[in-house]
Amino acid sequence: MTIQQEVESILAALGVPAAATTKGELTVRTPITGEVIAQIPTITAEAAQKAIAQAHAAYLEWRNVPAPRRGELIRILGEELRANIEPLGRLVTIETGKLLSEGHGEVQEMIDICTFAAGLSRQLAGLTVPSERSKHRMMETWHPLGVVGVISAFNFPVAVWSWNAALALVCGDAVVWKPSEKTPLTALATQAIFERAAKKFGNIPVGLATLLIGDAKVGEQLVDSPLIPLVSATGSTAMGRAVAPKLAARFAKAILELGGNNAAIVAPTADLDLTLRAIAFSAMGTAGQRCTTLRRLIVHESVYDKLVPQLKKVYGSVVVGDPGAQGTLVGPLIDERSFNAMQKSLEEARSAGATITGGERVFTANPGTANPEAFYVRPALVEISSQAEVVKRETFAPILYVLKYTGFTDALALHNDVPQGLSSSIFTMNLREAELFLSATGSDCGIANVNIGTSGAEIGGAFGGEKETGGGRESGSDAWKQYMRRATNTINYGTDLPLAQGVSFDIS
Ligand code: NAD
Repeated sequence: MTIQQEVESILAALGVPAAATTKGELTVRTPITGEVIAQIPTITAEAAQKAIAQAHAAYLEWRNVPAPRRGELIRILGEELRANIEPLGRLVTIETGKLLSEGHGEVQEMIDICTFAAGLSRQLAGLTVPSERSKHRMMETWHPLGVVGVISAFNFPVAVWSWNAALALVCGDAVVWKPSEKTPLTALATQAIFERAAKKFGNIPVGLATLLIGDAKVGEQLVDSPLIPLVSATGSTAMGRAVAPKLAARFAKAILELGGNNAAIVAPTADLDLTLRAIAFSAMGTAGQRCTTLRRLIVHESVYDKLVPQLKKVYGSVVVGDPGAQGTLVGPLIDERSFNAMQKSLEEARSAGATITGGERVFTANPGTANPEAFYVRPALVEISSQAEVVKRETFAPILYVLKYTGFTDALALHNDVPQGLSSSIFTMNLREAELFLSATGSDCGIANVNIGTSGAEIGGAFGGEKETGGGRESGSDAWKQYMRRATNTINYGTDLPLAQGVSFDIS
């Protein structure tokens, strides 16, 4: 079966009509072979405005449905996803080039957040706060917010929607989704799965979860719409820079999940065997195309000569090729633009005096790689003596910069001396170093780990980062609060009217 035929059969199994993917101006390619796998129509500006208005009307109805009942919709969605983990996971692999286990892992993440959100639907609780006034009660109530706009990136084409949508829908909001223009097929499939869940649930307002396929202009419509009080935008820092001021200008809320430049410190006492395995997955997994990919390795001078040669061996031998084939650990880059950006950064590093292992284009036995539109690379290990400008920038490709340190304070300073602040790790058996790394004066990132890599977060924690990563938090913990508005209520059940702070205002 050709990839094209496989895509057609997966889409049919998932309930996406063939007419939705065979005619249209958006060309979809699989990075596995570079061949065209679909032509998809995009939404017009007028139709997008209508869809946003319809989502707003849906929110006005949905907010009246009790939260635990809203949770039932998400529980059913989780069941539908569970039943379709195979085909949807494979489609993620075909559309993004991730390994098959990562494609399935992405759908598992969607299932997990549905489980989390269904439970959460009975726990959207506010505090009761002691009042300073006699016979008064003070409490917080959480109310639905409105329409949530979700803009997502190509590298987690469906999980990011679910992180937002599962929470937003149990919180009583409606959702309008603008996926990456590079991954509309998995979005269409997810929407079909949602619609099946909605049918089983019965009687949900039309437009409660809407998909708008188009380019950045459609994203801009979400950002500019007064009917959308919250936009959750995942993508590059450049995208965040365009979006953030517009949202701020109309006092809308923003959850920004932007670029990372994640580092790990390898201390003298590190368990080097475990460290090597953790680095391999974090730096080369998903072909370096995760926001949490390990991009900088800061190694103590006493273990450098032991660890780095071992790493070079792994980098030289890791299997690069078809992400669906057994044994492959590194699949393709998403497209030529990404390949060119990688080569440009490697050139810049070379000019800054770096020694580079790997980084070249790979043509494997995989039939697809004969196609000039498929871009496979050997991951690059770049030894560099200082944190040059190129090291401080996120290049969304498998490049790992390796730096050497002597004192722990210097390692921490290097670690934090980049504009981004997403994920970080330390490998050490020294309790003091580990605790310092996690303390207020340690890592400045939203995610800080000990003895595990920078990538592969669980849905139970709040996910996101500081500085140019945007400051947003999604997924677990109390991230749900962003999808609701909080009201503070004070109730007087007495006959007097005491004023707060002892203020007197006697009109008798
Ligand atoms: P991208 O910025 O090119 O596109 C992301 C999305 O934003 C797309 O849907 C795109 O159409 C839209 N968009 C672009 N400009 C816009 C604008 N001005 N207004 C509204 N929408 C706009 O990113 P990409 O190449 O798809 O993804 C890779 C980037 O995403 C990397 O930088 C990566 O680190 C980041 N990322 C971050 C996280 C996180 O959680 N922090 C997760 C995944 C990816």
